[in-house]
Amino acid sequence: MAKKSIHISMSVRGALLNWRDRDFEGVFKHDDGRPMTAREAKAALLEELSKGHEVIPSEGCDNFDVKKGCLGHTQADTAVGRLAPVCF
Ligand SMILES: [Zn+2]
Repeated sequence: MAKKSIHISMSVRGALLNWRDRDFEGVFKHDDGRPMTAREAKAALLEELSKGHEVIPSEGCDNFDVKKGCLGHTQADTAVGRLAPVCF
């Protein structure tokens, strides 16, 4: 039986409601690699909520549901431990 792994995902609503400004530092990046300010990150998260995305994936997750999160991978699909910060 193949082992199954699940990527971590982040609750968009949870971050917006519970994170302090300093909690956003170094977590989100623009497409060009520049870090987002807390204000920019909050705007990006609000945009995700407006699209109906309750959770956002970790980098490398290609089996993701925007309401439920990672749907899982067999061990052959991915290597655990390659998670990285989310980029917008
Ligand atoms: Zn995944």
